[in-house]
Amino acid sequence: MEALVLEPDLKLNIRDLDPAESLGPRDVRIKLHTVGVCGSDVHYYTHGRIGPFVVNDPMILGHEAAGTVVEVGGEVDTLTVGDRVCMEPGIPDANSKASRLGMYNLDPAVKFWATPPIHGVLRGEVIHPADYTFKLPDNVSFAEGAMVEPVAVGMHAANKAQIKPGDIALVTGAGPIGMVTALAALAGGCSEVIMTDVVQPKLDLAAKLGPITAINVAEADLMTVVKEKTDGWGVDKIFECSGSPKVAATIFEPLCPGGTVVWVGMPVDDTPFDVVGAQVKEARIETIFRYAHVYDRAIKLMGSGKLDVKPLITDTFAFADSIEAFDFCVKMPPTSVKAQIEMPQ
Ligand code: ZN
Repeated sequence: MEALVLEPDLKLNIRDLDPAESLGPRDVRIKLHTVGVCGSDVHYYTHGRIGPFVVNDPMILGHEAAGTVVEVGGEVDTLTVGDRVCMEPGIPDANSKASRLGMYNLDPAVKFWATPPIHGVLRGEVIHPADYTFKLPDNVSFAEGAMVEPVAVGMHAANKAQIKPGDIALVTGAGPIGMVTALAALAGGCSEVIMTDVVQPKLDLAAKLGPITAINVAEADLMTVVKEKTDGWGVDKIFECSGSPKVAATIFEPLCPGGTVVWVGMPVDDTPFDVVGAQVKEARIETIFRYAHVYDRAIKLMGSGKLDVKPLITDTFAFADSIEAFDFCVKMPPTSVKAQIEMPQ
């Protein structure tokens, strides 16, 4: 079948590649409809590796996906042919210690789409476990379904933060993950979110997503805004989504005593932080790696209208133009958030 393949020389080709997959009793076959382009897909294209994961063999890209069930295994009773679905891209070993402890996202043996050597889903069809395949309500589109994957990151961060109704959150970094984290924080009970970045068009978009105060920290003083919004107390939760060591260096300053910082962004460079700054506030520090147990909840929030990702889907390409789509994402204009690719139906 035709697929978007990243070759070991980091050239992209649309060509035939059939991953060896067979339908097991608890699997479903899904015809792909929409696949989002993620920062990690783009990073493999530009750098050929992320940490220890290196593109040594041709690999199909794409892991943010929605489609239609076209075949079900004999033991599947939760899905039927014709169901519109989205899929969790990581398949853990169900019997691993991490999975048995409920932390299946941390299973070292997890097979995650478009992470070498596992193929992604920019292709016609994929076989996937029914347990990691989620039905979409009629009012959630394929495009929104393909956004559940990034939203799941924000949802997991919101869970780790243990938001209380009425909390004020600060989200540092207005990239796609910062945006979905702000939406998850609001859906999770925050009364308002302060968002920071240094790129004005991203902040302009963020400010339209809900009760979000978008601060350009190249021009305005964050602490002045935080003091004004919180009567000098500090924000309850901070979600670090910039991956910037400079932001990390002062991350505890806007935090209230007893508040929580969740590290969401993955810094490329060494990132020291101020331990004493955290101690004097008895800050709780949390980290996340991908997500677990949040897909069904993200879909419910989208279906109920409490979490709207539609403004984040800024650019849509046909599969035939998917190389162009990746080149667009390498030089993503600041007015764009998420590019998606629609597969031929
Ligand atoms: Zn992604």
